[in-house]
Amino acid sequence: MSYPVIQLLINGEWISHTTAGQQSIFNPADGSLLGSFPIAGEAELQAAQDAADHGFKRWSRTLAVDRFRTIGQATQLLRARAPQIARILTQEQGKPLAEALREVMLAADIIDFLNEEGKRLASRGVPPRLVNVLTQTVTRVPVGPVAAFTPWNFPVNLPARKLGAALSAGCSVILKPDEAVPGAAMELVRCFQDAGLPAGVLNMVLGNPAQISSTLIASKVIAKISFTGSVPVGKLLGEQAARHMKRYTAELGGHAPVIVCADADGSDVAKLAVPAKFRNAGQVCASPIRFLVHRSQIDAFRTGLVAGALALKVGNGLDDGVQYGPLIAERRVNEMQSIVDDALAHGARVLCGGHRLDRPGFFYAPTVLEDAPLSARVQTQEPFGPIAVLDVFDDLGDAIARANALPYGLAAYAFTQNLATAHRLGQELEAGMVGINHFGVSQPETPFGGLKESGLGQESGLEGLLGYTEVKLISVAG
Ligand code: NAD
Repeated sequence: MSYPVIQLLINGEWISHTTAGQQSIFNPADGSLLGSFPIAGEAELQAAQDAADHGFKRWSRTLAVDRFRTIGQATQLLRARAPQIARILTQEQGKPLAEALREVMLAADIIDFLNEEGKRLASRGVPPRLVNVLTQTVTRVPVGPVAAFTPWNFPVNLPARKLGAALSAGCSVILKPDEAVPGAAMELVRCFQDAGLPAGVLNMVLGNPAQISSTLIASKVIAKISFTGSVPVGKLLGEQAARHMKRYTAELGGHAPVIVCADADGSDVAKLAVPAKFRNAGQVCASPIRFLVHRSQIDAFRTGLVAGALALKVGNGLDDGVQYGPLIAERRVNEMQSIVDDALAHGARVLCGGHRLDRPGFFYAPTVLEDAPLSARVQTQEPFGPIAVLDVFDDLGDAIARANALPYGLAAYAFTQNLATAHRLGQELEAGMVGINHFGVSQPETPFGGLKESGLGQESGLEGLLGYTEVKLISVAG
């Protein structure tokens, strides 16, 4: 499939043109023009709110088993169309085709899990203390129409978390994917439409992010905001949501530490760290960044990490065997260079990479830095790209303190063969997700969310579904 014509979806109608004009979409692997999308103006945003309003009234009253069947048909379509959708995803986002295909298939699993849980949202009876009260039932109801904002690094997976949870809970949605990657998200939305989702239940708009978010957060129709993106934007939307007393879930940035203990095997950990660090060119919020390695393991770990980084096959994600694609845009290449230059100015050493790759598109070399002092930006600011920082430690308590020192708390990882150390690390690392002896903390069945400034609430897992519900007490007297 070549790159599709991008349309908005409002009240079951696909919209190709608006009075607000069109915006271009580029292929990050070579900078070429892929297509364009219609910009939603005030009229489209108002129509989307009206649609979500009546869509919610209908969908929230639809039997849970009927919702389950429709959503299940959507995931069947998603799996059947995965090869075509993955190609669109790679063209607009850059990641290798095999990774894009895994993302789409995982998105189907995420939605399926939430759909199953949506069927069995349980109520709870509480014994009354007033003599005339017969029943007190604590029940969960859908929160209402949702405005969902997703970023560009996982164009299908992140919308899947939000749509899977919101639709399974009985909510309607206005989805705004990132403007750099609207094609794959549109094809996900199309699966729901083609599965028979009633008009208005799921709507998709694109345009000016700040205009769309401020309009929808202030809307009387919208009950909940769900945002994935950077900490500064997450805080901004959180302030607006609080002003309007809107429910708010935020998945924001991280600066994940990795502690490699004296009893771990440095070279084995390096083999796991290479794909974890450089997957999606490091543009992953739970990406490992600060490698804190015990002095006894640093040589083996350094050798393995650098060799693995240098061996990655770089190229256009559509080409065979490519493991490492471009960054999303020129601004991100410039940001990587500025972070590396700052680290060098503070005395860091570059072990590999540290420069843009001399080819068309937005490629930055897989980069490993060592000896960056804590005053260097890379030690405190999320690079959100292919940069790893190595540091040595002697005392585990010091390493844990270093790991916990930042305002972020999304993911943290540690490697040890000692059971007591594993439990200590699990308890003491301040992160919403702690991976001991592996990096796979993001699964459809488990909650994904951050502590501290890394976010509010969770997505995926049962917790992800509950975030789209409200608790309601129904107390009946005789
Ligand atoms: P950015 O802060 O400009 O944008 C991040 C995302 O927020 C984008 O999808 C953007 O469209 C959206 N956005 C920006 N302003 C908005 C607004 N007023 N209302 C609604 N949405 C808005 O950053 P960027 O250069 O695109 O990406 C780099 C930063 O974003 C990184 O530092 C990283 O922390 C963060 N990021 C995080 C994730 C994640 O999965 N948590 C994903 C992508 C980007």
